Amino acid sequence: MKQQLTIALSKGRILKETLPLLAAADIVPAEDIFSSRKLIFDTNHEHIKFVVIRATDVPTYVEYGGADMGIAGKDVLLEHGAKGLYEPLDLKIARCRLMVAGMKGAPAVEGRMKVASKFVNITRDYFAKQGVQVDIIKLYGAMELAPIMGLADRIVDIVDTGNTLRANGLEPMESIDDDISSRLVVGQASMKMKHKQIQPILDKLAAAIDAREAEASV
Ligand code: AMP
Repeated sequence: MKQQLTIALSKGRILKETLPLLAAADIVPAEDIFSSRKLIFDTNHEHIKFVVIRATDVPTYVEYGGADMGIAGKDVLLEHGAKGLYEPLDLKIARCRLMVAGMKGAPAVEGRMKVASKFVNITRDYFAKQGVQVDIIKLYGAMELAPIMGLADRIVDIVDTGNTLRANGLEPMESIDDDISSRLVVGQASMKMKHKQIQPILDKLAAAIDAREAEASV
C-alpha cells in the first residue's frame, strides 16, 4: 500500500501554470479545479490528493505537515521564512521580480521613509541590511495606491511587466530579488517518512521542467 500524499497548490495565477507541469509528471486532478468550489481534489493516483489554498497558506500547511509538499512563489516563501521546509525544485514558472517602487520622478526621501507592502518581513530585512530606517505599513493589496494617496513614500511589490506600476504613475526604483518564481517545497518530516513516494515525483517534475525549458529555448 502506498502512503497518502497531499500536495498543496496556490490558488490563482500560479495554478494555471502549475497544472500542466504536474500533468507532465503524470499527476492530474480528477475534476476541473477551476469550475469547482472544493478545496480538496482527488487525482488520477489513488494515494495523491491536491488541496487548493491561498498562496500565503501553502508554506504553513507544509511546515506543519497538513500537506506533504506544496507549490508557492519564492516571494511567499521568503516572507514566510521557509522554516521546516526543503525547497528541492525551482519550477521556473510565474517568474517576476520583487521591487521597491515609488511615484515616477519622486525625490529621495528625507527623514524616516514610509514603505507600504504586504511583504512586511522582506521589507524589514531589506531596509535593515541597507541601514535605512523605515516605517512599514502593512497592506493586503493594491499597494500602488499607497504613494498616490500619500499613505507611503515607497511600496515593495511584485513586478512582472511593470504595466501596473506605469498605469498608476509609479516606477520601479530598486530590485530586492530578480529571481522570483514558483518553487516546490517539501516538509522535512514528509521528506523523511515518505521519501520513496516523493522522490519519483521530484524526478518526473524535474524532467518536465527541463523539457519545458528546452522547448522554450528552441
Ligand atoms: P505587472 O503589471 O505585469 O508588473 O504585474 C504586477 C502585478 O501582478 C503585481 O502587483 C502582482 O500582484 C501581480 N503579479 C505579477 N506576477 C506575479 C507572480 N509571478 N506572482 C504573484 N503575483 C504576480
